[in-house]
Amino acid sequence: MFCTEDKELLRVDHIPIVRHTKVRMDANPYFDTQYFIDRKFHHGMKRLSGRFKQIWKNQHGCCYHCGLPMDISDEREIFFKVPKAMGGKDEVRNMAYVHKHCQQIFLERRAKA
Ligand SMILES: [Zn+2]
Repeated sequence: MFCTEDKELLRVDHIPIVRHTKVRMDANPYFDTQYFIDRKFHHGMKRLSGRFKQIWKNQHGCCYHCGLPMDISDEREIFFKVPKAMGGKDEVRNMAYVHKHCQQIFLERRAKA
């Protein structure tokens, strides 16, 4: 293993290989919107695993707050539908992905209410 006293080289065999799916040649981002939404969804399904994959699947890759399709590389957070402070459980059906900026707007609005 390549390492120094306090650092070691990243082991690339720990990183799963994720094949890139090419964009269909005739797909137009302005007309074939559903194709691109589905593509983003399937991309997330390939990248996520376990309960995170299930959460993504439950909401078809769309933000729980704004309803827009999320990109797996977007900054996102887990939103608890019933807040933990109000007895919400740490389980898949109580959890949803939200855009990080949507969550910030949500928290600001809640603070004002
Ligand atoms: Zn959103």
